[in-house]
Amino acid sequence: MDVTRVEDVVGDFVTLKKRGQNYIGLCPFHNERTPSFNVSPAKNIYKCFGCGKAGDAITFLKEHEQLSYRESLEFLARRYNIKIEETVEDSEAIAKKQMEEGLYVVTGFAQQYFSKLLFDSDEGKSVGLSYFHERGYRDNLIEKFQLGYAVNSWDAFYKTAKEKGYSEKLLHEVGLISERKENFIDFFRGRVIFPIHNLSGKVIAFAGRYLKKEENSPKYINSPQTSIYDKSRTLFGLFQARNAIRQHEECFLVEGYTDVISMHQAGIENVVASSGTSLTIEQSRLMKRFTSNITILYDGDAAGMKAAVRGMNILLDEDLNVRLVLLPEGEDPDSFVQKHGTTPFREFVQKNATNVVLFQADLLNKETGNDPIRKAEAIREIVGTLAHVSDPIKRQLLLRECSTKMLVDERILIAEVNKLRRKSFSKEQQQKPSLPEQKMLNEAAEEQMQFTKEVFIAERDLMRILLESGNKKYNDDSSIAHYIISSIAEHPFEHPNYRMLMNEIINHMNSENSFPPENYFMQHPNEELKRTVIGLLTQSYELSENWEKMHEIFVTEKETNYIKDADSALRRYNLRIIDRMIADNSKEMREAEKSGNEEELMKQLQIRKSLNDLRKQLAAETNTVIVK
Ligand SMILES: [Zn+2]
Repeated sequence: MDVTRVEDVVGDFVTLKKRGQNYIGLCPFHNERTPSFNVSPAKNIYKCFGCGKAGDAITFLKEHEQLSYRESLEFLARRYNIKIEETVEDSEAIAKKQMEEGLYVVTGFAQQYFSKLLFDSDEGKSVGLSYFHERGYRDNLIEKFQLGYAVNSWDAFYKTAKEKGYSEKLLHEVGLISERKENFIDFFRGRVIFPIHNLSGKVIAFAGRYLKKEENSPKYINSPQTSIYDKSRTLFGLFQARNAIRQHEECFLVEGYTDVISMHQAGIENVVASSGTSLTIEQSRLMKRFTSNITILYDGDAAGMKAAVRGMNILLDEDLNVRLVLLPEGEDPDSFVQKHGTTPFREFVQKNATNVVLFQADLLNKETGNDPIRKAEAIREIVGTLAHVSDPIKRQLLLRECSTKMLVDERILIAEVNKLRRKSFSKEQQQKPSLPEQKMLNEAAEEQMQFTKEVFIAERDLMRILLESGNKKYNDDSSIAHYIISSIAEHPFEHPNYRMLMNEIINHMNSENSFPPENYFMQHPNEELKRTVIGLLTQSYELSENWEKMHEIFVTEKETNYIKDADSALRRYNLRIIDRMIADNSKEMREAEKSGNEEELMKQLQIRKSLNDLRKQLAAETNTVIVK
């Protein structure tokens, strides 16, 4: 698309200021106070010198608006009023698209109609607007969320829409009117209106809130499911929150529309609502496109809390970091932030946010007391949750904390969690029909496991050297322990036991300023840690014996060789890490190729090149033959 100007497209989302030949603004991809986001009209590209994001108009729309390539083209076509050449599509697809376009037109009209009534009609002002003002919503916020009002009439909206020539069929399809006795009536009557937007800001549905208490009407009614609105795939407020979520790398999850808007009013904009429904997989994935950190603000009572916490497993399945904040009794996010203000709210959240698994462990603990039967149930319950944590390291850490909290032997928890995971894994296997694909997946998983195993072995060797010679001198300034620890500082060990051991050593060195003495680990209260140390020390002996016998190599005395040992173990460790990165990179490349994503492919090729260079260099130092 030659007509697209990057400065126009970016300018729709970022405030740009002219500076010389270029434009400059605050980067929408990372949080900054001084602008480092540059747009060059000459080159028709943008680049951020803070976070490195760069590209053209299409890249911008893809990254900023989370649109697909196709959707980005459509967006540009709409903006510049140009027709994109239709790829071959069947008539059914075209009809569906025309229908959807029609629905958007109708919802867009309805939104403007409801907003106008809120500000201009007597009823709208005295009922709707005064309700919003009472809640402290400023007019700019009301406009930002495009709030509106539907007057208390059977057909005011229907008549206006018909007069203006909107199709009855579409109005009915989108749920704005309903049939009654061979006639149509308005669906929303006498309600304040909350429009629901999709990610590109188009209105796809409405929620209407009834304000009078005495009558027998439901408090909220919602547009029905349509081809442009799927409740289970929508989060209220995400359109307005998406930039703030990206910038804060966190998303608050609340229940109600008014919670979302009140938090915006208080300056907290990274917030979305599930709108009363229990969370779906699609909603979890939607959030994950913007951040991995979800903080749930919960205002229920203890009884509802148990069910709510169980419902959060769906977030754990998506490998999200889920924290939960329990609000004081009688408060919801809306009332809390209004009563206490922004800063106390943030402080409260900071202080009280608890990992959802540990929160559940505490909750179960409180309930069971000393009752052994209830305790067994509680253990089953926490095991059920732990099995949803897919990242093995996170799971291990949580498992350990749960074992301490609930006074259950860690090994029991591990065994039960593994049992459950095996069960659900074999269930998944059964549900997967396509054999070739399954085979590929299995192979990929196996390959992954092989690499992880190799990393574990390299970690083990480093750990062994650390235990045997950690207190020896590496050079005039540092010990072997200092040298190894500082060399791997950027990449903590992945094997949970080695990681635990490493942390123990680091803590000891920080507090005592020396490497732990030999008997330190033998007297350690943590059995797991002790077993790991014993395993490491005995293994090394067997290994070196084998080496001598198998290769008839004279292994020099450990006493004099530990510096060389440490160096070569470190290099082997780095090699293993790089090998796995290369494998990951291959996977990315295959995927980019499959989906025809040229840009991504180029990026991965470049990564591959630097990984290969790095590997060559390391391998040369290690005297390892390069097989690949
Ligand atoms: Zn940036």
